[in-house]
Amino acid sequence: METVTLNNGVEMPALGFGVYQIPDSETEKAVTDALAAGYRLIDTASGYRNEEAVGHAIAACGIPRAELFVTTKLWVQDPGEDNTKRAFEKSLRRLGLDYVDLYLIHQPFGDYYSEWRAMQDLHRQGVIRAIGVSNFYPDRLVDLIEHNDVAPAINQIETHPFFQRHDYQQLMGELGVQIESWGPFAEGRNNLFTDPVLTAVAQQHGKSVAQVVLRWLVQRGVVVIPKSVRPDRMAENLEVFDFTLTEAEMARIATLDTGASLFFDHRDPTMVRQLGTARVD
Ligand code: NAP
Repeated sequence: METVTLNNGVEMPALGFGVYQIPDSETEKAVTDALAAGYRLIDTASGYRNEEAVGHAIAACGIPRAELFVTTKLWVQDPGEDNTKRAFEKSLRRLGLDYVDLYLIHQPFGDYYSEWRAMQDLHRQGVIRAIGVSNFYPDRLVDLIEHNDVAPAINQIETHPFFQRHDYQQLMGELGVQIESWGPFAEGRNNLFTDPVLTAVAQQHGKSVAQVVLRWLVQRGVVVIPKSVRPDRMAENLEVFDFTLTEAEMARIATLDTGASLFFDHRDPTMVRQLGTARVD
């Protein structure tokens, strides 16, 4: 597995397994299958309500902890550093772990400056190997970096062929923040899996559209965490390190960019209110 090196020297797999929208009851099997297929990076969140099932799969897998890279995320909290530390402890307990590899602020809402200070503390204590953010637009990211000691190691943002984030990736690179894609397949929206441009490129390489999309992201230096509950697709999604897209193919895929989210804009006041006031135990 190829890796990326984060701004604090921590190495992270370039491709992992996401568990968003996998029901709690199916998550232990999915993660067990993913680990058996060869995934070592698992991406969950307190907001997905399946950390405990992820923990069960990890406990039973027999793979040394040091070979795994576990990400979880902090949901929007009531203000104050103590609330963040309590939420982290709960995640750790649900996962059955004594440290996580990556802990992300899930949404750029609420009192995330106190959250970040608490996370810096937890990082210094050694119970989190790297800290980062998710869904931060450039203004929020720059502001957070300007007013804190530790810059995020990661910003996990919607990134796929229809919302490519090239300019933002460049800015993040200048700030030392690794880009990580969520929704690499746009969850199948815009008929991604039958898109004519992606299909033509896939045929050229004897690969699937899913593999071309993941290869295109990995080749751009974007960390990817595709989700699937099907073992055949889990295996398929790992097989992206044995071919290379040409510059002309990268340029063709670049034409698919719409420059906008296919889900929602995190700066939309309705969403800010809706997500920012929702609480997860
Ligand atoms: P995604 O990975 O873009 O798409 C998942 C969908 O694609 C599922 O319907 C899956 O179906 C299908 N699929 C997977 N592999 C396929 C293949 N080879 N061929 C055809 N279909 C395939 O969507 P996502 O789960 O939203 O994003 C990935 C991860 O990013 C999440 O699981 C989560 O960890 C993270 N995420 C983070 C945020 C955030 O706010 N930070 C938001 C969304 C997601 P089957 O399962 O039936 O195979």
